[in-house]
Amino acid sequence: MTQDPDCIFCKIASGAIPAENVFEDDACLAFLDIGPLAEGHTLLISKDHYETVADMPPDAAAALLKNLPALVRAIKSATGCDGVNVLQNNGRAASQVVPHVHVHIIPRKVGDLFHYNWPAGTYAKGRMAQVAKEIRKNLP
Ligand code: 5GP
Ligand code: ZN
Repeated sequence: MTQDPDCIFCKIASGAIPAENVFEDDACLAFLDIGPLAEGHTLLISKDHYETVADMPPDAAAALLKNLPALVRAIKSATGCDGVNVLQNNGRAASQVVPHVHVHIIPRKVGDLFHYNWPAGTYAKGRMAQVAKEIRKNLP
C-alpha cells in the first residue's frame, strides 16, 4: 500500500485511527463520515494514498468505483432514504478538505436541508464547441 504518514484517511485505512467501517476489500474501505450530512453518510476511499482522482491510475479508480452500486443499494436499504448523492471533491477550490481521494455517498430525503448552490450558466455562441475541442485535445 502507498501511504502518507501524515494523512488521516491513510491512518483510517491502516487501522491506526478507528472509524465505523461498513465495507472493505483489498483496495478500498468505506466508513461513516464523522460529520454526516445525514445518517448513513459514507466515505468510500482507496487504501492507497492518491490526493485526487487525477492522480489515480485507471485500475485504482476502477477498483474504487466498482464498489459504488452495492454501497448505494445498502445505504438506501439501511436508511430508507428517498435518493442518494454521490459526490467527489478534488482540490481546495472544489471543497476538498482531506487530500486523500474519497467518494461521499449521501442519503437524501425529500425536503431535507441539503441544497446545492448550482449557478448554471450559458455558453456564448461557438464557445461550447471550443471548450469540448480543448478537452478532447487533452485526453490521452
Ligand atoms: P471533503 O470536504 O474533503 O470532500 O470531505 C472530507 C470529509 O471527511 C468530511 O465530510 C469530514 O466530515 C470527513 N472526515 C474528516 N476527518 C474524519 C475522520 O477522522 N473520520 C471520519 N470518519 N470522517 C472524517
Ligand atoms: Zn492518504
